[in-house]
Parts: sequence; C-alpha cells; structure tokens
Amino acid sequence: MPKTDNINSIIDHKLFTEEDIHNMCVKLGKQLTADYAGKKPLIVGALKGAIFFLTDLVREMDVKAEIDFLDVSSYGDEMESSGEVKLISDLATDVKDRDVLIVEDIVDTGLTLEYMKNLLKKRGARSVKCCVLLNKEANRTSDVEVEYYGSKVGNEFVVGYGLDFMNYYRNLRYIGVLKPEIIKLVNNK
Ligand code: 5GP
Repeated sequence: MPKTDNINSIIDHKLFTEEDIHNMCVKLGKQLTADYAGKKPLIVGALKGAIFFLTDLVREMDVKAEIDFLDVSSYGDEMESSGEVKLISDLATDVKDRDVLIVEDIVDTGLTLEYMKNLLKKRGARSVKCCVLLNKEANRTSDVEVEYYGSKVGNEFVVGYGLDFMNYYRNLRYIGVLKPEIIKLVNNK
C-alpha cells in the first residue's frame, strides 16, 4: 500500500468530476422517476461500492421507494474478478411481488449483477432491473441486461465515489484512474 495518507496521491487522472457524476444522477433520476411512476419499488444497493451513488440517485427520484442493501463479492482484495460470487450479507426485506431496482457502482464481467438478479427473481420479485453508474463492457462474460447506466468506461481500474482500491479511497469525491506504479506494486506483491 502507498505510504502517503493523501488520498488524491494515488490518482493518475480524473475520469469523472463531481459535476459529471451529479449530471449522471440527475439524468438517471429523471428516467427512473418516469419509469417507476405509480410503483413503489424496492431499491437494493450493492454494498459497499454503491453507497454514494445510491444516496445521490434516490434523491433525484420523485418516487415512493424503499431502500435495502445486499453485500455480494466477487473481487475480495484483488483487482480482477475471481469469477465466483458470494453472498456476504442479505436483505432484510421480502422481495416477493416487488419491483426491485438494483443499484450498483460498476458492472464489469457482469457476474455479480447476474447473481443478484437471479437471486431476487428466484425469491419471487415481480420485476428486477438495475441501474449502474459505470458500464465497463470490455470484460463482459455474462449476457445480463444493464437497463440503466450513467456512462460507459474503458478497461481501466477506477476508484473513488464508492469504488475502492484495497478497500480504501472510496471517499474520493470524484472518479479517477490509478497511477500505473500503484497497479504494478500490487501485481508484483
Ligand atoms: P463483475 O462481477 O461485473 O465483474 O464485478 C462487479 C464488481 O467488481 C463491482 O461491484 C466492483 O466492486 C468491482 N469492480 C469492477 N471493476 C472495477 C473497477 O474498475 N474499480 C473498482 N474499484 N471496482 C471494480
């Protein structure tokens, strides 16, 4: 791990500023307000990466909605998906006959999202859709549908605004790309 405590020092360049992120939330919030009008969706946040996105997104939605959280993991401390998805912490809410909207930070291989969607459908949800902030399509192995997303991203490891590197840096206000030397440090570990 880098010795410095300055959380900005590991960033090579910014990809999305606070303003970019705010604009994505506003745009998605408007779409979701229209699409969920008259429904009372259950919004399921995927811990921990989606916490900042979820709190900003739901405040842009003029919809009567419940919120719950699910923690599933396919990465551990690594930078590439292990391919195996584990349920770490479950919902408190019964999803039977509910319109469920999963809120996720980023979709990469799609395996985590596919796992969550299948789990909630199996439990009898009426509909299961997802809203992800970033859509990374380069490594997609699942044909899971991504109904709503803020922006596409290339095949680079991004951090900030909920997205972590070794469980740190989630509290950066923007989203940036890690410096190559930090990535090398981890790969040579
Ligand atoms: P998937 O199952 O789609 O391969 O992986 C989804 C999860 O991997 C995301 O919820 C996120 O935690 C993690 N992930 C994928 N790409 C990145 C990335 O570029 N940066 C960070 N911090 N996490 C990522």
